Amino acid sequence: MKKIDVHIHSSMWENARIQPGCILASPEEIKESYRELDIDKGFLLPLISPEYRFCVQTNEEMEYLATKYSDTFYWFCNIDPRMGFNRPDYDLSEMLMYYKQKGAIGVGEVTASLEFDDPLVENLFYHCAECDLPVTIHIGHQKYDCYGILDDLHLPKLEKMLKKYPKLKILGHSACFWSEIDGNVTNETRYAYPTGKVEEGAIVRLMRKYPNLYCDCSAGSGFNAITRDEDFGYKFIEEFSDRLMYGTDICQPHQKTYLASWLDNAFEKSCISYENYYKFCRGNAIRIFNLNLDK
Ligand SMILES: [Zn+2]
Repeated sequence: MKKIDVHIHSSMWENARIQPGCILASPEEIKESYRELDIDKGFLLPLISPEYRFCVQTNEEMEYLATKYSDTFYWFCNIDPRMGFNRPDYDLSEMLMYYKQKGAIGVGEVTASLEFDDPLVENLFYHCAECDLPVTIHIGHQKYDCYGILDDLHLPKLEKMLKKYPKLKILGHSACFWSEIDGNVTNETRYAYPTGKVEEGAIVRLMRKYPNLYCDCSAGSGFNAITRDEDFGYKFIEEFSDRLMYGTDICQPHQKTYLASWLDNAFEKSCISYENYYKFCRGNAIRIFNLNLDK
């Protein structure tokens, strides 16, 4: 099954760095990885906040790449909550609608080290909801030596936002999000990749309670959460089949990811149904982001 990748990073610049000694994959390198992984489309997410290490990208760069490689890429715009004079009442809809009209289909990933309920972050969520743009969030666990919107153990602040902005589609992502699949997660393990059996945790509770919460299953964190206890993973896919999306979070050239082959195997072994396999791999992304595919 061809997949749609809801989370990818690339650059138009040959030497754009994500950290010292480590460059971002070029679009051609991403396309090579996509051929190996049987992915036909990906969503380019700009890294616009300074917390994420080395280079800061622009929305315009993503638009440029998605136009140049329109057979492969869609793009997200990204708005740091501090944009607009660092004002919690700034009309961010103006910027969001500008990029939406230029073709952006979502917002993120938001990596700013601000609390979920910081008035600046709330303002961004309010405007994303108003503009009907889904937002991908990277959750962090501490203000320093970390990046991502800050929440506490078991994600009480994410819950507050899900409740306050029911129209807003939030795509959860990052280790601090995914470790909460298991109720036994602690302050010591929440930013890591805990392994072993899963007992229903905050994600399961929030997914049941808030239909506006979605899962970006990219990166090692998404893969680990879904596969660490396979029987639980199959049930999770079954129960939330309409809100899980495949992704890679590839940043570097030739970066290896494992979720695609795991999903293919799960379907071949009849551990997940064809319908749910399709939804996870591409159907949900097509529906949620109104993509003109498979029609
Ligand atoms: Zn990412």
